[in-house]
Amino acid sequence: MNIQEIRDQFPILKQQVNGHPLVYLDSSATSQKPYAVIEALRDYYTNYNSNVHRGAHTLGSLATDAYENARDKVKSFIHARESAEIVFTRGTTASLNLVAQCYVREFLKEGDEILITLMEHHSNLIPWQQAANKTGATLRYIPIQPDGTIRLEDVEEAITSKTKFVSITHVSNVMGTIHPVKQIAAIAHRHGAVICVDAAQSAPHLQLDVQDLDCDFMAISGHKMVGPTGIGVLYGKKALLEQMTPYEYGGEMIDHVDLYESTWKELPWKFEGGTPNIAGAIGLGAAIDFLQQIGLTNIRQHENQLVSYALEQLSLIEEVSIYGPKQPELRSGLVTFNVSDVHPHDLATVLDSEGIAIRAGHHCCQPLMRWLNVSSTARASFYIYNTEEDIDALVKGLKRAISYFNYVSQ
Ligand code: PMP
Repeated sequence: MNIQEIRDQFPILKQQVNGHPLVYLDSSATSQKPYAVIEALRDYYTNYNSNVHRGAHTLGSLATDAYENARDKVKSFIHARESAEIVFTRGTTASLNLVAQCYVREFLKEGDEILITLMEHHSNLIPWQQAANKTGATLRYIPIQPDGTIRLEDVEEAITSKTKFVSITHVSNVMGTIHPVKQIAAIAHRHGAVICVDAAQSAPHLQLDVQDLDCDFMAISGHKMVGPTGIGVLYGKKALLEQMTPYEYGGEMIDHVDLYESTWKELPWKFEGGTPNIAGAIGLGAAIDFLQQIGLTNIRQHENQLVSYALEQLSLIEEVSIYGPKQPELRSGLVTFNVSDVHPHDLATVLDSEGIAIRAGHHCCQPLMRWLNVSSTARASFYIYNTEEDIDALVKGLKRAISYFNYVSQ
């Protein structure tokens, strides 16, 4: 993997920020975009912009083919059985809400249980909280270990014959932990529960195979995997999607409309009411081609090296406390930390003045923050275009920030 060649594909990385070369360490929030994706969007808008599944004209057919071709690429990327199982959405949040609305609210009832962890992103927590309130089902939590890992025996203990639905993040956006979703899916199925996987943080970094994982639903965001914003995917097993009634009604998703009754198109279009994000889907297809050319195994290996290096370097700074497991192989490409006596927002502001972009805040995980006994943390996250030099710049910046705040507080 030639990192310089990869970096050259990302125009944004060529710029200076606050007079310094940009060091972008916030890919878990959103990744940067390569020329191939930018060009796919430009090409669509310049050469064949048209609505899909409608016009009997040339541009309409080109747009429809490109849109459906992108769906096929997603299907192959996550190893789904059929393209009918791939629904385009706005992103992970929209995908999870679709499942909450059309599956959990429809099929769960009082006395049933929904099982998640307290490490979930708000997008994989609030939809189930609301669905539980609406249906009378009970929301329950699988305990987690201090380093953010999940023990299968804790899953076994938390799951009961009343558990009808489990939703779990594949990779935590705070702890960086990779969770054993295949084994958790097997436990869920043994108890007759359906399992949904929040793959927002795993799809960009890990080879996904929904058939091997045997998950029932999976949610993905395009923008975290070098694709455009506003496009994502809900994967669902066909038998489940077929049972579900859509919740966005309008154009594109209907078969026959009468004055008082209507029928829906077949899968996946019954869930894609209105004009979809055509450019976004085409851009996501280009993003998938780009990632596959590099190879997900190479991506994982590169990030593993970066995480090992970051853990090693950050742990040499006395004032830094790192969250998540010490073993790099248990993690995806991010490190969350705090610096004693320095608020993460102050830290991020000082680093920004040196062109270094990190994330500070609760990372949409307030229950996890309370469990960690902090109000917020700093997070550096890595992707295909990051290098050890980026981590060196972070470490230098952190040391400067620490000495600056020590000086100010004296
Ligand atoms: N789940 C996880 C684990 C995430 O990291 C994110 C994005 N930070 C989301 C869900 C929500 O993704 P989106 O904002 O793209 O809908």
